[in-house]
Amino acid sequence: MYDAIVIGAGISGCSVARELSRYKLKSLVLEKGHDIAAGTTRGNSATVHAGYDPDPGTNKAIYNVRGSRMYEALCKELEVPYNRNGMVIFATNEEQMEECRRLKKTGDLNTVPTELCDRARLLEIEPDMGEGIIGGLWVPTSAMVCPYQLCFALSENAAMNGVEFRRSCKVTKIERGDDCWKVFAGGEVFETKYIFNCAGTHADIFNNMVSKDSFKIIPREGQHLVLDRELIKYVNTTLSQTPEKLPTGGHTKGMGLMPSVDGTVILGCNADDVEDKDFSDTTAEGIGKIVSYFEEKWKYLPISKYVPEFPRDKVITAYGGSRPHSDRDDFILGEPEDAKYFINLAGIESPGVTAAPAIAIDMVKILVEREGAEENPDYRPGRKIKKPFRDMTREEQLKAIEADPDYAKIVCRCETITEAEIRDAIRRPNGARSISGVKMRTRAGMGRCQGGFCSTRVLEILAEELGCGALEVRQSGNGSQVLLGRAAEGNL
Ligand SMILES: Cc1cc2nc3c(=O)[nH]c(=O)nc-3n(C[C@H](O)[C@H](O)[C@H](O)COP(=O)(O)OP(=O)(O)OC[C@H]3O[C@@H](n4cnc5c(N)ncnc54)[C@H](O)[C@@H]3O)c2cc1C
Repeated sequence: MYDAIVIGAGISGCSVARELSRYKLKSLVLEKGHDIAAGTTRGNSATVHAGYDPDPGTNKAIYNVRGSRMYEALCKELEVPYNRNGMVIFATNEEQMEECRRLKKTGDLNTVPTELCDRARLLEIEPDMGEGIIGGLWVPTSAMVCPYQLCFALSENAAMNGVEFRRSCKVTKIERGDDCWKVFAGGEVFETKYIFNCAGTHADIFNNMVSKDSFKIIPREGQHLVLDRELIKYVNTTLSQTPEKLPTGGHTKGMGLMPSVDGTVILGCNADDVEDKDFSDTTAEGIGKIVSYFEEKWKYLPISKYVPEFPRDKVITAYGGSRPHSDRDDFILGEPEDAKYFINLAGIESPGVTAAPAIAIDMVKILVEREGAEENPDYRPGRKIKKPFRDMTREEQLKAIEADPDYAKIVCRCETITEAEIRDAIRRPNGARSISGVKMRTRAGMGRCQGGFCSTRVLEILAEELGCGALEVRQSGNGSQVLLGRAAEGNL
């Protein structure tokens, strides 16, 4: 029997798993996707929000602020890129300036440092802001991270410290047994004292299976465009418009430009409610909204000084994800009164990436304090990863090649990713099992050609490392077969 089962390996589930691994507990994570970070954690704006905007006193405000303050140390410990580049919320008219004043008041109540700026002050922060911007709000503690990289790192560290993970293992039912929960998943029944419900847009299904205190999760999709790395040199801060109220409840932070920690520029995103809980597509309508917005507002952004029109030809890819918006319009945390030992981390919409590490501490504390869990004496907080080849000095590169000749084989030319790095990404705890898994861990296939050149080589390496035939390698999960069959005898 397990002490704890976590449903879902997104940023919430992996933060919980790592927190559980600090204690002498038998823990298991069940993930229906083919990989870690298969849900919303894979498709978002990657911003570590400072916490200037959630309504004071709500779970969103409390955990946003706490999470944001944990991030720098957490990313350092797990060797994940983090950039505290700050955010400018810009105003082009008096109404938007008034909104900035309102946000400042909310920021003050949430104890988040912010500064109301006139145009001259904004230009000191972001010198190339366009004509027509009259001022705005400066949020110096906003930062950028790669959420799925952090999620992989959390899961890897949790696995190193003893947590079991099962991928492609969908939970279909939960039942109350004698002194335990029975969790039905992947054709097996697992018994556990505690359940942590971290199932993202599916979290309502599990809560409503065990509790009369029901709620509904409404998937709220958002899409992004990614611009080529050559544009990042023209912008320092994250730039955002003032938040928008949504007709169906809640609000979004508004469209924004995010300089990613990987060197690309992210633009997005829309916010539209959808039926499909697994919706993570891009659509002509969604992309159309982003393109129209940025075509109109491009003149305000610093890049426009160097690239005057919105550069459609610099869009290298697009992606989407769905926020788990709850009908309670806040994070739903803890045990329902009628379902002891069942702990919800539900309704974790934005700023969920930011808040997850702080939420996990408090949710695991429920178990630890009640059960008097002992600390894990072998717990190691960090993980060792090698510096990316492209960031090494020439001397470091030569040393790496001497130690492992696979560093001399560049597989992805757009992003300069070597065969050694791809093999390492497959061999690590909870490592890559698909082309997309390699892509997200190493960036092989994330560059301008989007895998046009390197995917076949990545496929071959995966087949070698996983000991399977090339026909069995998948793009992402089941149903995403890449090679359909042998066209002729000989090599594929
Ligand atoms: C467009 C957009 C922009 C955003 N921008 C930001 C931002 O800039 N900053 C920020 O802080 N937050 C942002 N967010 C919010 C953030 O992405 C989410 O709050 C966060 O990723 C939620 O993480 P999670 O682990 O709770 O859910 P998920 O990442 O969705 O993880 C849930 C997991 O549960 C699994 N699962 C579901 N059902 C089952 C089952 N039956 N059995 C087993 N496993 C199951 C899923 O496959 C999934 O992997 C944004 C979200 C979107 C969509």
